[in-house]
Amino acid sequence: MAFFSLYSGMPIASHSTLRAATIGRLGEIVGPQGIFTDPAELEPYVVDWRGIYRGAAAAVVRPATAEQVAAIVKICAETKTPLVPQGGNTGMCGATVPDAKVNPVVIALGRMNRIRNVDALNNTMTVEAGCVLANIQQAAADADRLFPLSLGAEGSCQIGGNLSTNAGGVNVLRYGNTRDLVLGIEAVLPDGRIWNGLRSLRKDNTGYDLKHLFIGAEGTLGIITAAVLKLFPRPSANATAWMAVPDPDAALRLFSLLRQQFGDRITAFELMSRACVDLVLKHIPGTRDPLNTPHPWYVLTELGDSSPGDALRNELALALEKAMENSLVVDATLAENQGRSKALWRIRESIPEAARGEAGMLYRHDIAVSVGEIPAFIRDGQSALEKHFKGTHIICFGHLGDGNLHYNTYVEGRLRSDAAARAANDVTTVIYDIVKQYKGSFSAEHGIGIAKVEELKRYKDPIEIDLMRTVKHALDPDGIMNPGKVLL
Ligand code: FAD
Ligand code: ZN
Repeated sequence: MAFFSLYSGMPIASHSTLRAATIGRLGEIVGPQGIFTDPAELEPYVVDWRGIYRGAAAAVVRPATAEQVAAIVKICAETKTPLVPQGGNTGMCGATVPDAKVNPVVIALGRMNRIRNVDALNNTMTVEAGCVLANIQQAAADADRLFPLSLGAEGSCQIGGNLSTNAGGVNVLRYGNTRDLVLGIEAVLPDGRIWNGLRSLRKDNTGYDLKHLFIGAEGTLGIITAAVLKLFPRPSANATAWMAVPDPDAALRLFSLLRQQFGDRITAFELMSRACVDLVLKHIPGTRDPLNTPHPWYVLTELGDSSPGDALRNELALALEKAMENSLVVDATLAENQGRSKALWRIRESIPEAARGEAGMLYRHDIAVSVGEIPAFIRDGQSALEKHFKGTHIICFGHLGDGNLHYNTYVEGRLRSDAAARAANDVTTVIYDIVKQYKGSFSAEHGIGIAKVEELKRYKDPIEIDLMRTVKHALDPDGIMNPGKVLL
């Protein structure tokens, strides 16, 4: 039986005899240590981080160089073998899960973990795709520079995955998304050619800026093998505040006030409902409530600059006093040292992990609206859900300063799986229809993967989808790159 590619109608090789021969050839490229087919070894590569999606793969291949990636892709192109690039497998929308229907080969980039070069004068570093984000941050710090991309999964996600999802995280407010932090990339194209676009230039208007096609493409256009990243001066002073606010309106006014005073020195401004904090305290060992009494909403903010001593912290303390006088802040704590700051951030960053530990049905919505509309969106979402779905709780947190909320809804008790699927669909439609009214995004930072392919069709402008298909077909006419993801 032959499977047909999504784009050309050409048969995609997928049957075991064909695949076994192909796997033998791939093994010759990477050696016995670089390939495995044993189901127990494949297991971590065929399930997503949340444990929601499960697929199947013919093999996992672990190349060590871009040349090996190119040789692997060439064979896959020739034999029409589908491929799934995989980084740290921490993605939130099933984009790494190999589609069992086509039994693809997973290309895991983790062995390509060299930092090739740090250029402190040019404020750039060149890294391979399999570098873990935390190691990149550390290498930048070792050169007295900052690589500002930061997210809860930084200890295991890889820069190739960050690029391919255009990851956001907590410092977007000051430094932008991953897309804004890149000057050049190297990528293996679906025909196996290596495109070396590893330029370290801040100015280069020589035609289409092709790197941006691969950034955020979720592995559907090629495999990123290396990148030139932007570095920044490292702030010598930091200040972290955990604040209880009466409601999201107050949080928004507080954001405006602090932004007016501190400008770009605010690197993060995160909103959380009490339900998030309760989840963390329940599921994450060693966490404790930063304040003495519970409050309905919290903001965690981080500031950084180069002022001497405690000047920044003192300035923030004064600003908080003023915010308290104006009833924008009800209670607050300022981290007195780095350890305390880390403990506050741990609460915020453990919310996804804590939510994973909760039984019951949880529907995740990673939405964006314009910053000023966040409070109205939260209100509208809440009243629509209360009206349509009894027993719904909202676990809402996110990057208020970017207009991006993880507006998750939780329904008590476990439903039977068919009822659960229907309920998930209904809840999601209610939320995304409101997002549409606000001219917002139904996927602000996590991407499409397999989780949101239907929503893409429903909510994205048909002309944009048409253009996306044109690009996909031009680069990957046989549809071998991460089939079943993003575009169907
Ligand atoms: P993977 O999950 O392995 O892959 C993601 C996609 O990229 C897949 O489509 C894959 O095929 C493709 N891919 C991977 N490597 C390559 C490559 N070299 N070339 C081409 N395609 C490739 N995301 C945010 O944006 N902001 C957050 O704040 C955030 N917080 C998180 C917190 C937690 C606790 C967790 C678990 C996840 C969080 N995420 C967040 C989601 C996730 O960490 C990011 O999407 C991250 O960028 C994925 O990196 P990865 O290496 O795990 O990629
Ligand atoms: Zn996020």
